[in-house]
Amino acid sequence: MRAIRRFTVRTVLPPELAALGELVLNLRWSWHPETLDLFAEVDPAIWERVGHDPVTLLGAVEADRLRELAADRRFLRRLADAADDLREYMTAPRWYQSIPDAPRAVAYFSPEYGIASALPQYSGGLGILAGDHLKAASDLGVPILAVGLLYRHGYFTQSLSPEGWQLEHYPSLDPGGLPLTLLREEDGTPIHVRLSLPEQRMLHAQVWVLQVGRVPLLLLDSDVAENDAAARDVTDRLYGGGTDHRLLQELLLGVGGVRAIRAYCRVTGHAEPEVFHTNEGHAGFLGLERIRELTEARLSFDEALEAVRAGTVFTTHTPVPAGIDRFPAEMIARQFGGDNAWPTVPVDRILALGAEEEPGKFNMAAMGMRLAQRVNGVSELHGAVSREMFQGLWPGFDAAEVPIGSITNGVHAPTWVGREIMELAGRELPTLVERGRGWEGVTKIPDADIWGIRGRLRTRLVEAARARLRRSWVDRGASPPELNWIDDALDPEVLTIGFARRVPSYKRLTLMLSDPDRLRALLLDPDKPVQIVIAGKAHPADEGGKKLIQQIVTFADSEDVRHRIVFLPDYDMALGRLMVQGCDVWMNNPLRPLEACGTSGMKAALNGGLNLSIRDGWWDEWYDGTNGWAIPTADGVADPERRDEVEAAALYDLIEHEVADRFYDRTDGLPRRWLEMVRHTLASLGPKVLAGRMLRDYVVDLYAPAARSARALLDDGYEPAKGFAAWKLRVGQAWPGVRVEHVEASGLGDTPEVGASLGLKATIALGDLEPGDVRVQAAYGRVGLHDELVAPGYADLTVDSVDDGGRAVFSGTVPLDRTGPFGYTVRVVPDHPLVASPAELGLIAVPEEPAGMTNGILR
Ligand SMILES: *Cc1c(COP(=O)(O)O)cnc(C)c1O
Repeated sequence: MRAIRRFTVRTVLPPELAALGELVLNLRWSWHPETLDLFAEVDPAIWERVGHDPVTLLGAVEADRLRELAADRRFLRRLADAADDLREYMTAPRWYQSIPDAPRAVAYFSPEYGIASALPQYSGGLGILAGDHLKAASDLGVPILAVGLLYRHGYFTQSLSPEGWQLEHYPSLDPGGLPLTLLREEDGTPIHVRLSLPEQRMLHAQVWVLQVGRVPLLLLDSDVAENDAAARDVTDRLYGGGTDHRLLQELLLGVGGVRAIRAYCRVTGHAEPEVFHTNEGHAGFLGLERIRELTEARLSFDEALEAVRAGTVFTTHTPVPAGIDRFPAEMIARQFGGDNAWPTVPVDRILALGAEEEPGKFNMAAMGMRLAQRVNGVSELHGAVSREMFQGLWPGFDAAEVPIGSITNGVHAPTWVGREIMELAGRELPTLVERGRGWEGVTKIPDADIWGIRGRLRTRLVEAARARLRRSWVDRGASPPELNWIDDALDPEVLTIGFARRVPSYKRLTLMLSDPDRLRALLLDPDKPVQIVIAGKAHPADEGGKKLIQQIVTFADSEDVRHRIVFLPDYDMALGRLMVQGCDVWMNNPLRPLEACGTSGMKAALNGGLNLSIRDGWWDEWYDGTNGWAIPTADGVADPERRDEVEAAALYDLIEHEVADRFYDRTDGLPRRWLEMVRHTLASLGPKVLAGRMLRDYVVDLYAPAARSARALLDDGYEPAKGFAAWKLRVGQAWPGVRVEHVEASGLGDTPEVGASLGLKATIALGDLEPGDVRVQAAYGRVGLHDELVAPGYADLTVDSVDDGGRAVFSGTVPLDRTGPFGYTVRVVPDHPLVASPAELGLIAVPEEPAGMTNGILR
């Protein structure tokens, strides 16, 4: 018989051990080894059995043992120290507290969070990044208030059928067995967030609080008695179900999330967020809810839109068009129109926010960008790709001017870095991580020390991989006597390559199988063998991805190579940690430029692993020629199969001639040239790949400016927002009257020379606008074959005179700062102290005929 419901009965701790309860309820333990040691000491055997999950540990430990601990003076002293340390961590001023004018609080919305293996609320990189974002924010004292959903069945765990086909299993999570507390009114009543749905339905959700260090994470959960069965299932799984289901999840996350934040701030006295960060389109409805709040407080839609945009940051995470979140527009119309409409928020305005090229579609990324004054991609290359991909939202502007910047992702070192590495060089590394500088010091660490630790980490991986492999084969129906070979599967001395990731097609899981004989030869090389550890989950609906996994598994099952190549099922944070720590080389071969950033290679680098990767995402930015290897890309090759072949051949060559050679080239038993690269990797990448660096960038480049913009709009009951909205409306209406009528150059002479300057006078028809409403700029620089300006510079022109007919003359100078073909033009864009970029309004006027283009060759 199966139970219809499960729950966990919590242990009552003796009063002397009350602090243990406090420690368990703060997820800081997940990145604090000393606290984990303390948990281990509670009962070492149970600790191992429950997979280092402290909540389960406390549920399983015997009352006798607890009584014993309550009388153990030494344990109590350590417990008191740990509790003090946590209290100090929670309250002491940190980096953020020295930033002037920083926002009092920042709300962070994400559909998934990867915080600890015990909380399977993530599917891949997006969630892991969100988890690392919160942890780094906590370490730096950034006052983030985070929002997500509590998926009762989380994301699936993966196993394999005898044929190597992915099988999915959804664990059933019991909030009582997790370190969560229910958000309640002061009188103890659980707080419910409510959303009205079409046809008089209502969606209720309770709110769980997960404390991630200093950061509270609010998780909405629709499994409550007030809901009908369908509504109860809204938060059943991460990325399960169809479009309707997804829309309800996103409504709950965005709209419900804002309501949860309001309730949390009300009952706890937490500061209200001044900035809202939308981590990917899924959370975008939060902007609509904030518009609703402000329109109900008597702002017009346009005024509210400005106030909301100013304080919103949107991060886009995918350059794969199929990865963009879209809905049929009629679904949105049904949700926000008819009987269910919000009286102050017209549904046609909502539909316009999500409009895209394809009529009838509602695009969450487009809405994200229209609702946020500041937008970023997650690596420099991804920023550039996004500017092209979304150029259509800013017609008339070159891709380079599309207002999408980039902040390259980072990883939270205390979560991902092996303890041995952290302890390398005494206690120095944690300090380096905290400060983000001083990494050159790692060059002083002796070769033998690094090699010793790398060997320990590799051995640990090999041992854990054998155990997992055995479990997997048993699951697949093998009997233990058939599995003796597993005792010798993988070798702690052999060059170990790791490959672990989700399995969408662009990541090309099976590229390494392009030429199976060549791969076999690398694995079985008598002098310089390599071994490969592989892991990855395919999306449950992705049959193609499951086929790729099956191909890999089938190859790895072959008797001749199965001791050198293994597929380990159920890639999650725990397996990820094991792999990024134990592998010598981290391999990544996406189809460039479809990997937005990638972060697993950063984790490997921090552990002294070397990256072997296509130059995509972060690796395009930070590969420096000697901190790893770049797999050459065949960008120009149009035939995808041919391209794969070319890139695979380059990969095999690199492994055979560069990677393995270096690894096995020993002097006095040490691979000196390899270790040189490891040290250079740590010194050059260490400070860059940290989530702390990423957080500082977000605070300085996005959160603080967004807070300034938001504050500038809210004085006197949002008077500046009203003015700004009225200005945008007026400029938008008058813009058809703006023209560049005439441009005149002076000072050019017959043979212009570099270093001279060019005087420009532009006559601009302003229609109903004033000179102060616009910015007139000369764009200048190198010209291409078709007279297009390539990466132009801009110089502002200033107004000289205005006539009665609304015609103004602007003038200024342009430096002839380069030799060769040179050109210029003049453009007009709207200008206001509150716009964040020239392209913000999507309005521009340029000469009808390219004016005064000079293609003189300058010496
Ligand atoms: C780091 C990590 C990811 C993301 O890695 P990518 O390099 O972006 O693929 C995904 N899943 C897990 C479990 C991770 O630890």
